[in-house]
Amino acid sequence: MLLPLFLLVFSGQATALPRHDPVPGGVAVIKVNSETTSATYNGKPVMLVSEAGERYAIVGLSLSTKPGNQTLQTDKPVTFKVKDKTYKEQRLTIKNKRKVNPYANDMPKIQADRQEMDTAFLNFESKQPALEFSMPVEGIISSPFGLKRFLNDQARSPHSGLDIAASEGTPIQAPANGIVTATGDYFFNGNTVLLDHGQGLISMYCHMSRIDVSVGDEIQAGAVLGAVGMTGRVTGPHLHWSVSLNNARVDPNLFVKQVAD
Ligand code: ZN
Repeated sequence: MLLPLFLLVFSGQATALPRHDPVPGGVAVIKVNSETTSATYNGKPVMLVSEAGERYAIVGLSLSTKPGNQTLQTDKPVTFKVKDKTYKEQRLTIKNKRKVNPYANDMPKIQADRQEMDTAFLNFESKQPALEFSMPVEGIISSPFGLKRFLNDQARSPHSGLDIAASEGTPIQAPANGIVTATGDYFFNGNTVLLDHGQGLISMYCHMSRIDVSVGDEIQAGAVLGAVGMTGRVTGPHLHWSVSLNNARVDPNLFVKQVAD
């Protein structure tokens, strides 16, 4: 019976806040003391924003979060409840088997890629974050966030982003203001851009046909980052869009002004 209460508390106000959806892969919007200046969750700094005279901690919950009580560390610890959520299964056939079972000599590249992305995801800029996202591409949601994945019948990590299918060359637009903190041609993700929106909120664009921005660029909402492609591990042209908060990959829809299905 907690859910309707939370919905009452968090709906109808604070349009700039992401939706409160405290599930694995979701976001917890937690009211904190108005004087709070720092908070951590799992040892990571947490976003704090003021909205309509209230102070909120915005906590990203990774897909591996265990349902039950979790603790936000502030001047005094705040306990909040994570609900269970069951995501559907998805089975994909990848023609390029090397992208499912890489060769031993692919591993240094894969590890270097991961390191570069992890560094970008762990960055925490104290500036006011851009929290209201537009969809980066016009297209069809071909794979929702969170699916339990089997590639060529082998279990893999759950789907940590949202896939939007569109034809190759379709422009990808920044969903909000941000700074480009990494670009690369990664083994699994192909041509990729990471955009830092502030306070640990980072978005990532993968499988691009081309990249139109460089590290350090200050990007305005709506600016073109590049185009939809099929580089890296794909079954067809699409944008894989990840949104990360305190290094937890969360459902991008929670930040989108109008929820896409
Ligand atoms: Zn994807």
